[in-house]
Amino acid sequence: MSKKIGLIATGGTIAGVQAPDMQSYTAGIMPISSLLSVLPFDAAHIVPIQLANIDSCDMDADLWFALVRAVDAALVDMDGIVITHGTDTLEESAFLLQLLVRTHKPVVLTGANRPSNALGADGLRNLYNALCIACSERAHGVLVTMNDAIFAPTDCYKATTLGADCFAARNGALGYVQQGDVHFLRIESRKLPHFSACSPESFARVEILLSYAHNGLGAILHALKEDGVRGVVIAGSGAGNVHSALKRALCAYQPDELTVVCASRLARSFIAPAMLQAPQWIAAGYLSPFSARILLALLLGSGATHDAIVRTFRQFGD
Ligand code: ASP
Repeated sequence: MSKKIGLIATGGTIAGVQAPDMQSYTAGIMPISSLLSVLPFDAAHIVPIQLANIDSCDMDADLWFALVRAVDAALVDMDGIVITHGTDTLEESAFLLQLLVRTHKPVVLTGANRPSNALGADGLRNLYNALCIACSERAHGVLVTMNDAIFAPTDCYKATTLGADCFAARNGALGYVQQGDVHFLRIESRKLPHFSACSPESFARVEILLSYAHNGLGAILHALKEDGVRGVVIAGSGAGNVHSALKRALCAYQPDELTVVCASRLARSFIAPAMLQAPQWIAAGYLSPFSARILLALLLGSGATHDAIVRTFRQFGD
């Protein structure tokens, strides 16, 4: 009996349409049913679910949690899930799903760097590969696929807007899809924390502050704090270094007033506790500022103590 795969569409360039002049395009136009109608895939029964049709730069917590609920609901009677998503924030949604959806079944996110009617459009191929992964007995949990490669949400990122090879991973690909065959080179064995949050209220206000030359963000930080921000992730320069103006402003807060996690603005980095510029800060390990922000928001939203937050981030630095 063929497998039943839920195909949840959220928009993105994979559903984008290019103008006749081939110069500009708009993301999130084509319904998923139109993409499916031209996809030569009959190895599974596919159930399309059009959840949204947005440019993923506009992703927000309301849609995130609607996506989590849609995935949970579909997993009840589906063998796997594919999610189409804009590439801008795909890595963030993938990491969030990994922390919130508890399943052994495959949940595969994909997108495209080129709109659906562009020359050399990559969307259908990526969608085809995602469906192959979702049908594979060896695929488990949340995965990302782009340009024939399979990535782990914890370490993949959008690396370029040029060409179809738009994603990369700090630790390399988990595997590849070749002519519909799914090959894993390694499996992600790291155990991740799990949250049962199910609404945007469980996602505390955490912002990312970038450190750069001639930095004046200290002033902005005060405004953020007054606006209910409970945590900050620093995207530090190099090895998580923080401009002294920003550091002074951050150090004015006690950890219970404002939780500070330090990551690096580099695509490939590792911030260990010994590298921190202030003892009360928390090291992001190998997490990007975007992933660290999601983790911290869920931790603060679930009422975790400072010690529990420190312990959880250590899991990403061992
Ligand atoms: N801006 C688009 C989006 O994230 C880019 C893409 O999908 O490649 O929706």
